[in-house]
Amino acid sequence: MHFGIYVHPWDIAEEGADKVVSRLSRVGIESINLAVSYHGGRFFLPHNPKFKVYNAEEGVTYFGSPKECFKNSSLKPVRSSSYRERDLLKETIDAARNIGVTVNAWTVCLHNAVFASARTDLAVENIYGEKDVNFICPVKKDSKNYVTSMIRTLGSQYDLGEIELESAFFPSGFIHGSHHEVFGVRVSPVMSFLLSTCFCADCIANAKERGFDLAFARKRAISFIQDEIMNIKNTNSPDLASSGNILDLLEEAGFGDLVSFKEEIVGNILRDYTEDATDAGTRISIVGTSMGFRANCFRFKNLAGKIKGLDLVAYFQDSKTIKNNIFEIRRELPDSVPLRAGINISYPYAFNASRLKEAVRSAVSAGSDSIIFYNYGWATDGIIDEIGNI
Ligand SMILES: [Zn+2]
Repeated sequence: MHFGIYVHPWDIAEEGADKVVSRLSRVGIESINLAVSYHGGRFFLPHNPKFKVYNAEEGVTYFGSPKECFKNSSLKPVRSSSYRERDLLKETIDAARNIGVTVNAWTVCLHNAVFASARTDLAVENIYGEKDVNFICPVKKDSKNYVTSMIRTLGSQYDLGEIELESAFFPSGFIHGSHHEVFGVRVSPVMSFLLSTCFCADCIANAKERGFDLAFARKRAISFIQDEIMNIKNTNSPDLASSGNILDLLEEAGFGDLVSFKEEIVGNILRDYTEDATDAGTRISIVGTSMGFRANCFRFKNLAGKIKGLDLVAYFQDSKTIKNNIFEIRRELPDSVPLRAGINISYPYAFNASRLKEAVRSAVSAGSDSIIFYNYGWATDGIIDEIGNI
């Protein structure tokens, strides 16, 4: 069983690439997904030699990106101010090369509050016409040019196993976990889907070219959500409202046409990024939760030959949910597309030896082709060592 792990650049920077890579190799890790473009956050780092509570910078990059690489993009990568002088991706690749560990570029793309606030013309626009402060629209030319430039730069300048794309499409759901985010209403799966779809002018124009009236779908979505909230449907049985396949629920609610539209758009964007990666001599993988893949209406059966693998975030506390979640996606994916299960090794997930073994066993039994642990920096020394005992 192949084991990979997510690593944050500040751990490479402070602990040293040689030390991190050799330690991970000793416990059986064969690939590292290093965050090279990442969002902000506040993290507790049990074993980082410099930081215990770390405030990561929002929307910055950790790799070398010469100006000419982004000449076709109006959005330019913002280098981390803490590590501006260092190319942490190159340091990791250099350290990994001699001990046979593969390095992949883990790339957070459109979930970027710096871009969304500086370029409100690019921000995802919700059904009410309000701009998302964390996410830019995947359909906009400038957003696509940015992702394309990033793929081509990473693929052509670095010796990578692959580029893992995160948030390269529509937002994965309405609940985000922003600072002091509180809703006070029940956000049903359908409501989450509708509130994380973009209704900007470009999306409406794109839909019109395909013969779909997105502006009308927006009106229907507004009235559906009004009805869901004002009629407080299913408030006595919220589990009932959350059960079932989201695509079936959307069909029942009259949004099958919106699903078809998103399927087509996302399929086209993925095809373009696949071509960019091929041109740059590499391949892409995509990472997300099952909900995120559903929100983007991925046609799993069409992914063969397009992606190197699908990295499924299965961060659940109980092994049964891990198993069911992986099984559900695995059965829809073509056999030729590897499914790599993301197992969270920090509290309250697989944070001790027995939970870790159980989580991995469940993932494998559900058809996972390999495991990718999340993540090195948040995990304790003890649980990292336990990977070697699986
Ligand atoms: Zn849009």
